[in-house]
Amino acid sequence: MGIPTLIGVPFDGQSSYLRGAGDAPGKIREALASHSSNSWTELGVDLGRLGIRDAGDLAFSENEAFGAIEAGIGRLLDEEKRPVSLGGDHSITFPIVKAFARKYPELTIFHFDAHPDLYDEFEGNRLSHACPFARIMEAGLAKRLVQVGIRTANRHQREQAAKFGVEVVEMRSLPAYDKLRATGPLYITFDMDVLDPAFAPGISHWEPGGMSVREAISHLHAIDGRIVGADVVEYNPVQDVAGITATVAAKIVKETLGNMVAA
Ligand code: MN
Ligand code: MN
Repeated sequence: MGIPTLIGVPFDGQSSYLRGAGDAPGKIREALASHSSNSWTELGVDLGRLGIRDAGDLAFSENEAFGAIEAGIGRLLDEEKRPVSLGGDHSITFPIVKAFARKYPELTIFHFDAHPDLYDEFEGNRLSHACPFARIMEAGLAKRLVQVGIRTANRHQREQAAKFGVEVVEMRSLPAYDKLRATGPLYITFDMDVLDPAFAPGISHWEPGGMSVREAISHLHAIDGRIVGADVVEYNPVQDVAGITATVAAKIVKETLGNMVAA
């Protein structure tokens, strides 16, 4: 498998409530490079020695963002890289997965989030960050979608989950380690708001009752399969307190990379 490669996706144009997530990639990189920690992950992988690649930020104007994101991720996949995207609001996962599905038609997605993001449309917008998994599933871009940490599902989204055969593990039913085994190529999408806002206040939609950082890392470590790519989305620096959420986002990226390399 290819080398994990970071790629920034500075886009928050489909965020329904607050802007700000577009400024996240640079802040997560800063936190990753901070000398407050070292380059080893908990699984015993030295990311510094491996020399994780960084493809920089994708550049695009807001109205052509989705096409540019799909093309940019597609280029990395063509080069046999394993893209790890730094969002950005969660709408970016739709064009990202479009690119992945071309290479991996039998994709499994493990989705960490407080929200199912399964709205058919949100406030009249079908590309909102509240909708990406409706778009992905109706287009048949994933053979399996497992959602972990959900705690905001309403009737419509429960109906959508049933319609698309989504495997939902609600927050109240954790842990979900046994659900995190995949056969075939596997993609991880991590919305920072799956964490409790006490641990990660730098997000747009505070939803109390979420995962501790420890619970999230334990679930990431439990993932078993061929991880072909990942994204970490919805970090919103505008809402952050003393950069704490940037540090947490960097830790999530690190442990995801560690698992990609260790496995
Ligand atoms: Mn989300
Ligand atoms: Mn969310």
